[in-house]
Amino acid sequence: MELVGETWFSVTIFAWFADDATAAGSLTGLRKWWSAFVSLGPAFGYNVKPSKSWLIVKAEHLDLAKNLFDGCGVGITVEGKRHLGAAIGSPTFVQHYVNEKVEYWVSCVRKLSVIAKAQPHAAYCAFTHGLITRMGGLGLCNPSANANFEFNSSIQVTSSLTKEIIEQQTCFRMSVVSSQRQAKADIIALRHRQLVCKQSELTPQLPASLRRIVSLSSEKGASSWLSVLPIEEHGFALHKGAFRDALCLRYGWLPNSLPAKCVCGHGFTVDHAMNCATGGFPTLRHNELRDFTAAALSEVCHNVAIEPVLQPLSGESFRYATANVEDEARLDVSAHGFWGSRHQKAFFDVRIFNPTAPSYRNTAVSSLYRRFERDKQRMYEQRIRDVEMGSFTPLVFSTFGGMGSAATVAYKRLASMLSTQRGQSYSSVVSWIRCSTSFSLLRSAVTCLRGARSHRGSPVTIGALDLAILEGQVLPSH
Ligand SMILES: [Zn+2]
Repeated sequence: MELVGETWFSVTIFAWFADDATAAGSLTGLRKWWSAFVSLGPAFGYNVKPSKSWLIVKAEHLDLAKNLFDGCGVGITVEGKRHLGAAIGSPTFVQHYVNEKVEYWVSCVRKLSVIAKAQPHAAYCAFTHGLITRMGGLGLCNPSANANFEFNSSIQVTSSLTKEIIEQQTCFRMSVVSSQRQAKADIIALRHRQLVCKQSELTPQLPASLRRIVSLSSEKGASSWLSVLPIEEHGFALHKGAFRDALCLRYGWLPNSLPAKCVCGHGFTVDHAMNCATGGFPTLRHNELRDFTAAALSEVCHNVAIEPVLQPLSGESFRYATANVEDEARLDVSAHGFWGSRHQKAFFDVRIFNPTAPSYRNTAVSSLYRRFERDKQRMYEQRIRDVEMGSFTPLVFSTFGGMGSAATVAYKRLASMLSTQRGQSYSSVVSWIRCSTSFSLLRSAVTCLRGARSHRGSPVTIGALDLAILEGQVLPSH
């Protein structure tokens, strides 16, 4: 901008933020700068408002400042002024300004803690949205503990820009963008290393059962529900009881006011609730994921069917004794044109298991995924390949939200097809799928726990994919 580039401004250092001009330097230099602005500004559409302009000087320069700026209408202070969300002035002024800010933040957190009693999910999201919930945590940070790190990071990211201002560069150089990008990447990497360090320090101190639960909660997908805004119409909101139950399930804590006995007569425990067939809740849980998958598939594939019946057998024999040979055998979903050609039929079958159930507790989760995938494959794969000439994919989920490797590959393929179809970024669609499946499992888990007393919330709908990504601020997955 020509107004900025005039050489006789060299006595001062100045910076623009949109239409806000700031300059620093000797009083005589600033006085020349002021006159130039007042006389040249209007030709550039810049009309100086003296009543909104302030001169901040040290006490010993006050008299000279008053003399030089006499009649200009500019306010003069030795204390200080707010400037672009910060404060310039005496240490007392700056301290006072910071205290005010801190008091305001504290009052916000207090208000949020009141809201949290009735709306814990909303309050949680207001506090953490945009923070990353990895390593099985909740992403709840302690600002006083992080303040120094964040302050230094902020200096690091803005240093190249600050340097440009001090050197009074008049063109914006692309090297600034790349060095800022590099600084951000360095900070993210450093933060990650610090977290990994902290995690390896804490993990050995946890009791074995909690260690397993934290590793389950660290799986991809298991934290997706924590990172999205709680919008009910997209299926992303939990009422207060459900949110508290969800946290209890995530960390293996005992939820409040559970009945002593299940309606089936068995003693009521969380593990029992997750598996008890009375009331049909595990079936509902299974069906919700089945229907979500079918709905997403019908967006990108032909002939999507729920519970397709396999062709009756005519004496075919199969390698595994556990192969399903029933005439009326059904799978969960089938679709044409998912893996291969338009005419090739893909079959899917959903299996959800509770990795904290007593019988699975001592087995590594990765082995459980493999075991259930293998069981399903032995049951159906050969029959589908030989008789249906199709492909078979087992969709194995843990009740914590993680999924087996075959399901991961299938949902990635589905995300890629949906992203092309909808013109959405692949990483957003992958995240949306993870959020949707993780909410579906979570709502179902709460339903298993609370039965008919639970409010099920809106199931995820495919039509709202674009809106859900936008309004729910689904963070792209990496
Ligand atoms: Zn029961």
